[in-house]
Amino acid sequence: MSHPDVLVVGAGLVGAAIARELARAGLRVQILEAEFAGAGSTGAAMGHLVVMDDSPAQFALCQHSCARWREWLAELPAAAERDPCGTLWLAADDEELRAARDKLRLYHDHGVRAEVLDAVQLAAAEPALRPGLAGALRVPDDLVCYPPAIARALIEDAVRLGATLTVRRAVALEPGRVRCNDGTTHAAGAIVVATGAHAAALLPGLPVVPRRGHLVITDRTPLRVHHQVVELGYLHSAHTMGGASVAFNVQPRRTGQLLVGSSRELVGFDGRLERAVLARMLARATTFIPGLARVPASRAWVGFRPATPDALPLIGPWPGMEGVWVATGHEGLGITMATGTADLIVAGLTGAPPPLDPFPYRPDRPMAEAAA
Ligand SMILES: Cc1cc2nc3c(=O)[nH]c(=O)nc-3n(C[C@H](O)[C@H](O)[C@H](O)COP(=O)(O)OP(=O)(O)OC[C@H]3O[C@@H](n4cnc5c(N)ncnc54)[C@H](O)[C@@H]3O)c2cc1C
Repeated sequence: MSHPDVLVVGAGLVGAAIARELARAGLRVQILEAEFAGAGSTGAAMGHLVVMDDSPAQFALCQHSCARWREWLAELPAAAERDPCGTLWLAADDEELRAARDKLRLYHDHGVRAEVLDAVQLAAAEPALRPGLAGALRVPDDLVCYPPAIARALIEDAVRLGATLTVRRAVALEPGRVRCNDGTTHAAGAIVVATGAHAAALLPGLPVVPRRGHLVITDRTPLRVHHQVVELGYLHSAHTMGGASVAFNVQPRRTGQLLVGSSRELVGFDGRLERAVLARMLARATTFIPGLARVPASRAWVGFRPATPDALPLIGPWPGMEGVWVATGHEGLGITMATGTADLIVAGLTGAPPPLDPFPYRPDRPMAEAAA
């Protein structure tokens, strides 16, 4: 395509969602992807679409995005795997149960359905959990999906709507154009950088670093888990930018397998599996679901979350170069927030009213470190 309105660099879920929505809005779109749709963190993720409440801005974008996912998933092909299993946030003791009740109030104040389960109700809801947990917060409208299939489907939709997909690696941005590894340049009215954890390679100074995460998938098993089950302590793991942390997070897959997570480590782009981290993760998981100890693991892998210092994504114009927009830094919520991110970018580029206040996500905001 010669001189499209917008060139989207990166076809992870974030870039794919943006490209599809821009094409839907009638813009001429070119997508530039180094490998294939979903090749990055999108292909490594759990696919949990979850309203998280670390900050009002995180809550607002998650809530808007999850509502949009319910619309999008109704139209996407079956391969997107829409599973309305909801989330159970486990409270191990009375203190965590009090925290669950605080979250309940916050969710209700914002119109998100949720309920607190006591120990007896929790045991009935998830018999595979160890006895003695204090209870849980159940968020029934959270979902589970299959991100790489969705990225592919959105790119296919975008192409049906007139977008073009070019498989090349972008190596440099220049005003109004992108230079690729084969020496070609691609000019466009606007450029959206959606290259996930790699975004700082194109935009030096962009505050995004890779945060590695391990996942394990089990063999098919008769052990049943009915929700995405997460320990409330996960929030602490997600928000601490220090050393390696692990937290219990299990997801039932359609195949009868269980996806077991997860770790968070700042080790650059080191893609090696670390036995010690896997061992900690699995030990943690079996303290919550003892039966997991007897289920063989089928495969383990790592992915890289695009992390920012204040745990909020970077969505909007990049002050360093006219016509360049950024959509990255979603850390562990990039699957969830892809829909809302696309809405914000489309509004920014078309001048339509944004669906929520874009200010907290601006790439040039002052950024304090997220509280440990
Ligand atoms: C273990 C793990 C579990 C997770 N679980 C969840 C979850 O349950 N729910 C949730 O919401 N989020 C989850 N996440 C986070 C989520 O995966 C990411 O936030 C999200 O995938 C980021 O999407 P993206 O499109 O920005 O980046 P990516 O998916 O990494 O896509 C970037 C794309 O850009 C391409 N690219 C890179 N550089 C270039 C270049 N120079 N030129 C051209 N193309 C380029 C890459 O090939 C890639 O396709 C998880 C992450 C991990 C690691």
